[in-house]
Amino acid sequence: MTIDHSGHDPAAPSVDPAFIRRAIDQSNLNALRIALYQATGDTELASMGVTTYAPSGTPFLSYVVAERDVERLKAKALAYLEAQPHFMTPVPDRAEAYRLMTLYQGEAPDPATAEYGYEELGFDEFSREALWTSRPPPRVLEEFLVTVVGAGFSGIAAGIQLDRLGIPFRILERQGDIGGTWELNDYPSARVDITTFLYQYKFVKNYPWRSHFATRDELKEYIDHVVDKFGLRNRIETDTSVTAAHWDAAKARWTVSTRRSSGERETFDCNVVISAAGLFSTPNLPEIEGIETFRGAIFHTTAWDHGFDYGNKAVGLIGTGSTGSQLMPEVALQARHLTVYQRTPHWVTPIRGYRNPVSPETRWLLDTLPGYANWFCYSHHVAQMQSQNLHEIDPVWQARGGQVNEKNEQLREGLLRYVSRKVGHRPDLMAKVVPDYAPMARRLVVDNGWYDTLLRDNVTLETSGIERFTPRGIVSRDGRETCLDLVIVGAGFKVSQYLWPVAYAGRDGANLDDLWARDGARAYLTVALPGFPNFFMLYGPNAGVRAGSFHSWMEILTRYICNALVGMIERGASTIEVRREAFDAYNRDLDAAMARMLWESEKGGGGYYVNAFGRSGVQMPWTLGEFYARVKTPNLDDFLVD
Ligand code: NAP
Repeated sequence: MTIDHSGHDPAAPSVDPAFIRRAIDQSNLNALRIALYQATGDTELASMGVTTYAPSGTPFLSYVVAERDVERLKAKALAYLEAQPHFMTPVPDRAEAYRLMTLYQGEAPDPATAEYGYEELGFDEFSREALWTSRPPPRVLEEFLVTVVGAGFSGIAAGIQLDRLGIPFRILERQGDIGGTWELNDYPSARVDITTFLYQYKFVKNYPWRSHFATRDELKEYIDHVVDKFGLRNRIETDTSVTAAHWDAAKARWTVSTRRSSGERETFDCNVVISAAGLFSTPNLPEIEGIETFRGAIFHTTAWDHGFDYGNKAVGLIGTGSTGSQLMPEVALQARHLTVYQRTPHWVTPIRGYRNPVSPETRWLLDTLPGYANWFCYSHHVAQMQSQNLHEIDPVWQARGGQVNEKNEQLREGLLRYVSRKVGHRPDLMAKVVPDYAPMARRLVVDNGWYDTLLRDNVTLETSGIERFTPRGIVSRDGRETCLDLVIVGAGFKVSQYLWPVAYAGRDGANLDDLWARDGARAYLTVALPGFPNFFMLYGPNAGVRAGSFHSWMEILTRYICNALVGMIERGASTIEVRREAFDAYNRDLDAAMARMLWESEKGGGGYYVNAFGRSGVQMPWTLGEFYARVKTPNLDDFLVD
């Protein structure tokens, strides 16, 4: 098979040698090298040197073409692209892809990482597809129904997998539109803080992103594009909340009840429920004394009142996580005064080109040279994968007085240098904004202008704590009352309340409160629960991976769940339920591995990674390769399949 990209788009920019040179200069040269090597078979490209380079202030290594080879590579690329040949690139098989990955990095990735990387490269049409081993006759699936709860990115991935298998399904979404978190969050400046070249499905090829970090609106367009491309639109029922679900053992089916905003209710049966309800779906509305007496406007960031004009008003912002700090610069531009209530400081990282559009030159190269888009995305994956070097406690490092490990310390020093450059001349601010816990104990916050905005005359950073609300504003712990017209509640989400508010009732009255009473929500491989047959979760307990992109993991986990269903159906069984022993064994492993990670010891002042029991209930301790090996294929021996 070959990829043929020779067709020319009439809307394409006029491409002259200067344009091509700029495209090459802006490219990821190592990705360009591999794509060019694939296209031409020029062995000189394969033998060019690769070195690692850490951009200043980060422990993340980039794999770059050796300096001595850069000009030669650029000349070859220019000659090839100028000639405008009929671009044909062979699609690599696994062995060839492994060889090319090794050429990219200058060393061979370990087997599980390599397999993930092969899928990540996305040369296959649908690299993480669930498949029948022997497709059942249509009548077997006639009465079969899967209910997917939620039409965010994970629910949509589940729907696409089920559709390709020919398994009937309904997707129920309580919001008025699809998109999950990107439908819910439409606060000013909402934008993803992970490069969109990672934050995307691998089964959609070379989507024409306009921004390197897409805005909320661009992400919504993407979701619409995906849903239409895969023909899912009429399978999604919006404005449909699941209110209850219970397992009916006699029928071996779930009974699901729903309600629409009109009050219309429905109860129906289905064989399987897949909850894709999301981690950040239940807003945290803090119970602060007197909050109900406040006479100004107040709303959570997920319920932004776009009709409220905060221009020239006194605004308070509670919460300085990824949401609060992202929207704060825009609010400060308009407000008369902004008082930011920070309870715990966050580590804040710069991202180069955070608001940059994708240039016409980069777009042209992505669209023109087959394979470049694949390797360009792969380069982001390889960089991002290194985040897993930052979590594991190194006892030797600690014995020498260190905090977590050497890489984590490099990150801490880089972030400290950054904050010092930004606000080092203001010791009062430095004392307030520099955390005392190690970076990565909480999610890093991306600098969207946070430090610069703190320096504005109309911004006050209040850190003494909130004592209470009054009808006029907020009294801080130091006794001062600040009068406010609007309070923005950026207090995050109740992440520990997995699956809430649906009270799933499993086999023999099994319920989540009992299952999770000891120390909060747990699951088997993040997806399954004992006592809950034919029930699976996406982004369940401890699903926060240490590396890899959200979409990729949702592809992998939907493949896992759908392959488990395939296994059940092909055996002629009607139920699949994880064995209690498998759930317990997995959680024993998880606890043992978690003890080596930073989250429980570094706590980070109570961020959402650690639950009320002091346990890390959101993140997982496995490396990308370790978790991938566990979830590549379901081990049906861990399930009762009946
Ligand atoms: P968050 O990280 O949980 O932050 C919540 C903030 O509210 C914290 O500063 C917290 O303080 C504060 N807070 C909570 N209760 C409070 C109270 N009673 N009084 C005072 N302050 C209180 O929530 P988030 O900022 O919404 O972010 C959640 C996640 O969404 C992120 O970690 C990220 O995964 C995702 N996200 C992504 C993007 C993006 O890609 N651009 C943007 C936004 C969010 P403490 O820290 O002291 O608890």
